[in-house]
Amino acid sequence: MTQSSPAIVWFREDLRLTDNPALQAAVSSGRPLVLLYIHDEETKGLRKLGGASKWWLDKSLKALAADIEDAGAQLTLRSGKSADVLDQVIEETGAEAIFWNRRYEKPERDLDAAIKEDLKSRGLSVSSYNARLLNEPWDIETNAGGYYKVFTPYWKSASQNYRPAPTLGKASALSSREVKSEKLKDWDLHPSGPDWSTGFDDHWTPGEAGAIQRLKDFLDGPVNGYKKNRNRPDLDDSTSGLSPHLRFGEIGPAQIWRAVQAGMESGQVNESDGRNFLSEVGWREFSYTLLYYNPDIATENYNDSFQHMPWRTDSFAYEAWTKGQTGYPIVDAGMRQLWHTGWMHNRVRMIVASFLTKHLLLPWQKGEAWFWDTLVDADHANNPASWQWTAGSGADAAPYFRIFNPITQGEKFDETGDYVRTWCPELKDLPLKHLHAPWEADDATLEKAGVKLGDTYPKPIVEHSDARQRALDAYDTLKKKR
Ligand code: FAD
Repeated sequence: MTQSSPAIVWFREDLRLTDNPALQAAVSSGRPLVLLYIHDEETKGLRKLGGASKWWLDKSLKALAADIEDAGAQLTLRSGKSADVLDQVIEETGAEAIFWNRRYEKPERDLDAAIKEDLKSRGLSVSSYNARLLNEPWDIETNAGGYYKVFTPYWKSASQNYRPAPTLGKASALSSREVKSEKLKDWDLHPSGPDWSTGFDDHWTPGEAGAIQRLKDFLDGPVNGYKKNRNRPDLDDSTSGLSPHLRFGEIGPAQIWRAVQAGMESGQVNESDGRNFLSEVGWREFSYTLLYYNPDIATENYNDSFQHMPWRTDSFAYEAWTKGQTGYPIVDAGMRQLWHTGWMHNRVRMIVASFLTKHLLLPWQKGEAWFWDTLVDADHANNPASWQWTAGSGADAAPYFRIFNPITQGEKFDETGDYVRTWCPELKDLPLKHLHAPWEADDATLEKAGVKLGDTYPKPIVEHSDARQRALDAYDTLKKKR
């Protein structure tokens, strides 16, 4: 059925043309399209993007606009309160239908629900879809009802029940209405004064084509060995690097699922590596369930007893952590990788998060906020859920008394030392034996490697066993209050 009044496709966290259900439904409606992205920094309650996410969004929108142009249409950019912008665009175009893919953060859900109710009351048709998850949070329930609070049974149920819909393919031959658009560069998403993002370009190709290529490259090789190598930050491509692409919806988990299944069926992907990789995608799904049922997960302890945790305040220690100047090489390498590339290997994220919350006894919210600002994959669900998991306050969390030893973690997972040598080049000439604990090297070894502790590289800001004991004592006070 062809209809003459336009349909708005409201792009949000789904910046792709392939396998995009809202876009495909709008195309199938036969209406001319208004392809709209709203940069909303004004609606109260929405979490503002961090700096690294803005960097990514800038490039991702550029790529989306180019892809849409190739398909014969135009991406319209507007900024302001989403509800107001939609009203303006509806008035300018006479649109009678609107399509979007669903979001799961509480303020966004409330906003979408209010907009839906208002538009429907004015006679517009509003349709929403799932483009972001394999299973939406309410799809997977325990036998007793309610959501799973432990990952293993969650994923067993979620993966067994999941049947991917056939792919929707790539939307092409789009026809859009000419609508006035703002200029992307006027949104100042790219950092200036100073531009701290110069290292990002070497690592990333934001946009749908970059996402699809990264998945292909990963499945063409590195996936085989994932189970063994995924904890090795010193190896290139030990993980997929898909997280920022997933964050901005340049690729959806269903596309990943289908590609991995096809690879396992054809024999290109080892069964155990493929399943292990999909289960990591499952952790993302689990995080979204936690976010959906615990809307304050980025600020409030999932486990209430942590409200009594005697966290410290220590701006010197916090700053040393953010700058990669703690004196623990694996921690410093991670924090510097984050600063230079907007990303950090998962194993190292766990080490630096444990160091902040346990060795430094600083609240997990401080780390979550730093990651939110500096990660290109900073995610509403994964970031707070993972921080709480590491801190011990989260769902299915590591027990608090399991405190990562940053020296042995470095020795075990940065086995070659290449990771520390890359990100802490001032230590590169130290023998492997001392690389993860330079203060244990004798003076002659340090001198030969050109390392002057406290000068070219910091002395440890806390002593490991004292800090460990302090963390355990703090945790004991919680147990007494229970
Ligand atoms: P791969 O190993 O290739 O995994 C594929 C995909 O599975 C990832 O892209 C991601 O979407 C998902 N995934 C993998 N591991 C996890 C995990 N432990 N939890 C949830 N999902 C996972 N991930 C984010 O996407 N955004 C964040 O803001 C974020 N913050 C984190 C903070 C901390 C303190 C920790 C410990 C982990 C955090 N993670 C976050 C999870 C994980 O570190 C990243 O998803 C992973 O490092 C991304 O790299 P990759 O795409 O190469 O992962």
